[in-house]
Amino acid sequence: MRKNEEYNLEITDMGIDGEGIGKAEGVTLFVKDAVIGDLVRVKIMKMKKTYGYARLMEIVKPSPHRVEPKCPLSRQCGGCQIQSLCYEKQLEFKEKKVRNNLERIAGLGNPFIEPIVGMEEPYHFRNKEQFPIRKGKDGQAVAGFFAARTHHLIPVANCLIGAPVNEIIIREVLRVMNQHGIKPYEEETHSGLVRHVLIRYGFTSKEIMVCFVLNGEELPYAKEMAETLCKIDGMTSITINVNTEKTNVILGNTVRVLWGRDYIMDELDGIRFRISPLSFYQVNPRQTEKLYRIAMEYAELTGTETVWDMYCGIGTISLFLSRRAGHVYGVEVVPQAIEDARKNAEINGISNVEFFVGKAEEVVPRYYEEKRREAAEAEKGKEAIENGGRAEASGTGMHPDVVVVDPPRKGCAQVLLATICQMAPERVVYVSCDSATLARDVKYLCENGYRYVKGRPVDQFGHSGHVECVVKMQRKYI
Ligand code: SAH
Repeated sequence: MRKNEEYNLEITDMGIDGEGIGKAEGVTLFVKDAVIGDLVRVKIMKMKKTYGYARLMEIVKPSPHRVEPKCPLSRQCGGCQIQSLCYEKQLEFKEKKVRNNLERIAGLGNPFIEPIVGMEEPYHFRNKEQFPIRKGKDGQAVAGFFAARTHHLIPVANCLIGAPVNEIIIREVLRVMNQHGIKPYEEETHSGLVRHVLIRYGFTSKEIMVCFVLNGEELPYAKEMAETLCKIDGMTSITINVNTEKTNVILGNTVRVLWGRDYIMDELDGIRFRISPLSFYQVNPRQTEKLYRIAMEYAELTGTETVWDMYCGIGTISLFLSRRAGHVYGVEVVPQAIEDARKNAEINGISNVEFFVGKAEEVVPRYYEEKRREAAEAEKGKEAIENGGRAEASGTGMHPDVVVVDPPRKGCAQVLLATICQMAPERVVYVSCDSATLARDVKYLCENGYRYVKGRPVDQFGHSGHVECVVKMQRKYI
């Protein structure tokens, strides 16, 4: 099989990023934009030893699961990968992906997986967008999204998965930029000014945040920009973030207020949260409530338990669980997020939580070691009291009842998992946005004293290949 040759094939499976998979002359081909059940004509783009990548040339016979994508740009834009697949099949695909990973990577035989929790309305669900700003064909500033795996900008402001208000904000931003000649960023020469515009929208509070990511310190005509944007209903926070590095990382480390506050508020299940530009906040608030309720159910709290919430962000899961726990400890690496977390506890009148800033894999082992030493010394002092050391240690969080982890895509550092196993909680609740690293970590926990009980995928990211998942692990007693 060679480059540029064309073949007909049937798409029989889907890869991890939602690409279609089929076989031509016994060779597996990956075909972007083809969906399961399609009969397609493809052109080979690249061959590896045992498989290849091909471009979709023609849909010879469309799959019964194929739908007309609502967004006319869905094929070009890198934001969505599987809009052409009907939503029920998307959910089926995601559930299968989680199952495959748990079977193949974690090595579980027929793991119990509860039905995936889908969205009621898989459009306009995202509360955050980061629009790159670049120079358009006529030299004017344009906003949009990058085409898949490129930095080629597809102009689009009315993205169907984002909040409808984004379109108005972007229109106004571009109008002011173009009127005053404020320069968009140019990657090739690392020149120009406005790199990204980050927009966050509080679905419950209706508060809006706009953050300009600049390749420089100042935004010219900042007053005009702020005066224009603050007229938009709900505008609460306009800030500047400085990022002068040559990097794909969107945000720099500092934030300065241009107008209003440096955060917005939002609410999840009756708990109020303040959210700063640099803090992580789940992008799909309606599904997040469902996700956290599952985490709560899997944690089996009764009101007295000691809980650790690793990778806690602004303390969302910590505060959720605190309502049914004795004490919750949260750990998070971004200092601004921890600042938000502490304020969030205060705003909600919650006092049984404590937050630590730093890498979980550094903070937690250090904390555990320290408490272990203290407990050992205390034990020496009162050797007669059976289990005294352990009883005292449990009040320090050294031996919690439940540990929740919610790491980024790369999963947990192994040292952290090792410490968790030493802490020996009854249950580990793993919230994951990447089922491959989840499965790798489940395998480690299974080999180190835990048993997989069940899992449940939740669709947070409709039309993309990504899927969120909660897993419950129980300590084994031999
Ligand atoms: N549980 C939170 C956040 C989950 S996202 C929520 O549901 O909102 C993952 C979080 O882990 C992010 O806030 C990120 O800043 C943080 N993080 C990334 N690496 C980390 C590390 N090594 N140690 C601690 N936190 C980390």
